[in-house]
Amino acid sequence: MGWTAQGSTVDNSVLLEATKEKMVAEINTALETAFGQIHALNAAGHTLANKVEIMKVLYALNDRFLEIVTPCLDGVKLRCRKGCAHCCEFRVEALPMEALRIAEHLRSLGDEALREWILKLEAHADYAKGRSERNYQRKCTFMDQEGACRIYEVRPFKCRVYHSLDDEACRVHRKNYKIGLLGQLESMVVQSTVELFAKEGLSMAPAELGQSVLTALNAPDAEAAWLMRNNFLSIQ
Ligand code: SF4
Repeated sequence: MGWTAQGSTVDNSVLLEATKEKMVAEINTALETAFGQIHALNAAGHTLANKVEIMKVLYALNDRFLEIVTPCLDGVKLRCRKGCAHCCEFRVEALPMEALRIAEHLRSLGDEALREWILKLEAHADYAKGRSERNYQRKCTFMDQEGACRIYEVRPFKCRVYHSLDDEACRVHRKNYKIGLLGQLESMVVQSTVELFAKEGLSMAPAELGQSVLTALNAPDAEAAWLMRNNFLSIQ
């Protein structure tokens, strides 16, 4: 089944007409490749390592869409760049698999670094507990002094799919002015991810990022529990 640009929203007028056909072909090639890889990984067994690889394929697909669409923009450009981090003050949620992966990454940094991260995440959890987007305004624990993400490689979908044509809209209005087409593609990737794992009975209920990662770090059998179809992220 091929993907088409039909039904995309009005701000797709920012796309160059001349490159649309090539863009659609590239999107379909990326989709075909990614789903072939996922199919093979799925067939290889129900292990955490395979799930991590599947997430990597889906993250790479999302990044690839950005690469494909960006050169096709007509007269506008994405304002997102290293150091611009207004969106990193919003409340971010992560899927259980993402919390596990970030926890694994933090563990790989060694005992001392891990202890520091746990202290930071505990302070964050005190702030974030029970807060909704409306009353949440705090820099992400994973952001450094220069506004860069310290877990960029393993950042969750919520961060990956955020891009904007207007950084003032992010800063002043906490609004994401994005290209409809990209939004569509990104939703498709996130939706596919959720459906893929949920179909196997794995919990895909998102929870606030910092609290989820802290829980994943503190729960000794979080990975096994998730693979056994339990939700280790029962955070409110
Ligand atoms: S995880 Fe990284 S990209 Fe996401 S909000 Fe935090 S600092 Fe920003």
